[in-house]
Amino acid sequence: MAEQTFKIAVIPGDGIGKEVIKEGLRVLDHLAEESEGKFAFEYDHFPWGCEYYLEHGKMMDEDGVEKMRNYDAIYFGAVGFPGVPDHVSLWGLRLAICQGLDQWANIRPVEFLPGVPHRINHPDPESLNWILVRENSEGEYSGIGGRNFQGRGPGGEVAVQSALFTEKGTERIIRFAFDLARTRKRKKVTSVTKSNAQQYGMVLWDEVFARVAKDYPDVETDQWLVDAMAAHFVLHPEDLEVVVASNLFADILSDLGSALAGSLGIAASANLSPDKSAPSMFESVHGSAPDIAGKGIANPIGTIGSAALMLDHLGLKEEAERVNQAIADTTGQGILTRDIGGTADTVEITDAIIKNLSKVN
Ligand code: ATP
Ligand code: MG
Repeated sequence: MAEQTFKIAVIPGDGIGKEVIKEGLRVLDHLAEESEGKFAFEYDHFPWGCEYYLEHGKMMDEDGVEKMRNYDAIYFGAVGFPGVPDHVSLWGLRLAICQGLDQWANIRPVEFLPGVPHRINHPDPESLNWILVRENSEGEYSGIGGRNFQGRGPGGEVAVQSALFTEKGTERIIRFAFDLARTRKRKKVTSVTKSNAQQYGMVLWDEVFARVAKDYPDVETDQWLVDAMAAHFVLHPEDLEVVVASNLFADILSDLGSALAGSLGIAASANLSPDKSAPSMFESVHGSAPDIAGKGIANPIGTIGSAALMLDHLGLKEEAERVNQAIADTTGQGILTRDIGGTADTVEITDAIIKNLSKVN
């Protein structure tokens, strides 16, 4: 028996989700094995996703969210499948878990790995590394609204989609960003809104930001509109450290960040239930990528990096750092999947990461 056993719920999902999760589990197994009894992982696999939906008419079991409460963490692949509308798969599983377990903080590091062709004009790209903090419980993803409102005449349907900003929800994510900034070398938080056009919720956000900032006089602050921030990501990435934004805006900016860093395939993410009252969920930023599914060529780095975030959250900080180091060593050696300019396949790059993990031990 290991000194510590972590129970992990594994939801591989659809498409490349299944392929990359398998590789992430190999990395975790390797770490557990070489810990020589210090820790172990116990996995339960859940076959939820779009294939499950096509067979059962639902994305997950009815008591699926409650089932998840029995675990120390959730390791999630991706969902999405041609033929199942994206909003069905997203709300039926991923958002159901995030919102059901109150995983209100989504963190998405943007890292510039050695050897990976990036898309940024900067003399020392490897010095860049920032982290997006995404509000993960409300905002534009509140699901408030409806369709079939009577419009004027034929073709006049009106749909309403509202964004919800509560003072409590806004304050906790902004505080989270400030606390995170305090753990980093450069202590800076950049807040992103569109409060010139979104005059209710996002003005509240700005006000809460200004109020919370007073409690953190040691942390530098900055406030931007999201359109200008999109350009700023490209033009002055060295300005970024911790970037906090609403559910929708941070999602968009994180795809931009990962594309700048080389590929959607390398971006990791954690949906945190920060007070640990419920398990947190770890998943790559990319989706199920049906165009490359089943070919064995998906980049597993985002999912393996998400495993590192999971290790960190479970208190295995040294192991988390080692995984990140092994990823950087591997790309630095030129072992790259196709999306980042190489020829390695999913299994080969993971083999190399595991080999490098053994070396840094
Ligand atoms: P979903 O509907 O599940 O979000 P999607 O079609 O939007 O799927 P994404 O997975 O979000 O696809 O990614 C968009 C594109 O980026 C994919 O079509 C794929 O070519 C590429 N891509 C994403 N993830 C990876 C990866 N891990 N490795 C290689 N390429 C990837
Ligand atoms: Mg997508």
